[in-house]
Amino acid sequence: MVHELSPAVGHLVQHNLSCRGCGQVGLNPILSLGHTPLANALLREEDLTGIELTWPLELAWCPDCSLAQITETVPPETLFRDYAYFSSFSDTMVAHARSIADRLRETRKLDHNSLAVEIASNDGYLLQWYHKAGIPVLGIEPAQNIALVAEAERGVRTISEFFGRELATQLAKSGQQADVIHANNVLAHVADLNGVVAGFAALLKPSGIVVVEAPYLKDLLDHVEFDTIYHEHLCYFSLTALNRLFAQHGLTIVDVERLAIHGGSLRIFAAHTDSAVVQPAVTRLLEDESHWVRDAALYALFGARVESLRTELVGLLDTLKDAGKRIAVYGASAKGSTLMNYFGIGSERLDFVVDRSTVKQGFYTPGTHLKICDPARLLEDQPDYCLLLTWNFAEEVLKQQSQYRQRGGKFIIPIPEVRVA
Ligand SMILES: [Zn+2]
Repeated sequence: MVHELSPAVGHLVQHNLSCRGCGQVGLNPILSLGHTPLANALLREEDLTGIELTWPLELAWCPDCSLAQITETVPPETLFRDYAYFSSFSDTMVAHARSIADRLRETRKLDHNSLAVEIASNDGYLLQWYHKAGIPVLGIEPAQNIALVAEAERGVRTISEFFGRELATQLAKSGQQADVIHANNVLAHVADLNGVVAGFAALLKPSGIVVVEAPYLKDLLDHVEFDTIYHEHLCYFSLTALNRLFAQHGLTIVDVERLAIHGGSLRIFAAHTDSAVVQPAVTRLLEDESHWVRDAALYALFGARVESLRTELVGLLDTLKDAGKRIAVYGASAKGSTLMNYFGIGSERLDFVVDRSTVKQGFYTPGTHLKICDPARLLEDQPDYCLLLTWNFAEEVLKQQSQYRQRGGKFIIPIPEVRVA
């Protein structure tokens, strides 16, 4: 158990740190989630008696460019040490990728002379749709084993390197400039934001387009998605902050869409500034954000809502426990780690965790040390309640677990508000 839980509000002082977006020194605190272990650092049984490292987890915002970010940068070699396995994409994710690829192929009139690039292209889940349509592709994926799968199984040409200014310049010099660059859920993970956006500018053809998807700060705040804050996520974007960041590199955001995926995301389209035609959606959303993006009171309210959620959820679990109910957890996710560690809930209230990912089964959750089991255990043990920590897939999970529910099992969904289903 990680016991060092500092209050979410109060005792917060301005940080003498530089903003990852604009370099301004001095960040305003929003919320402190105390010291937590790394959200994806699952433990083996033999690790349980050892010392578990924790890092401060604190969200702050830049008064200059408005970028929300955490204050600690855990070294990538520590953070990603266990990332040698595949991200498993749900059918929803692959369909989502296909729809944007098909749309761009048509609207941008891409052909065999074009090039579509994805940064952090994983196993080729997105670029495969261009490749199948005869459009040349290039994936950039640092994990070599995953890059190999993209090539072998999907025919997606992939180079296994970290993307930044240097690699982009090399590619451009070798005549490989992109008509489309995709970066889905990448920017939040990057410490050198400016290096990556400079890379976009260097790699992009004069008439090309960059398409970036990132979880939206407004959805995080409105829906109290505080559990999406963990050390792997360095930044939490608004359009205002992205607009400034891209402008620093001669890129202009020309269009924006709000997506429901991942609890609410932004999809932005950016072009070289000298060829940019800005759509009204961008102006509208920037105007909307001007009312809240630098509003300290809104950030304070968010902190207070996190505290009420804690009181409510812990209260419910205690009531159930006192009534002799057995409670399990669904989802050994990074989000779940933030929630359980910050709320201080573990084996005293919860029995075990189930997760569909076979690479996680048999391990233990960081900080809380709950054993991760196959979801079949829900039917074997039939606990009375199951705390659903992958709430972003609530509908999918509830459907999959219909048998557990038919036998009287109930799910507790904690976000955006505590409800039992
Ligand atoms: Zn800034």
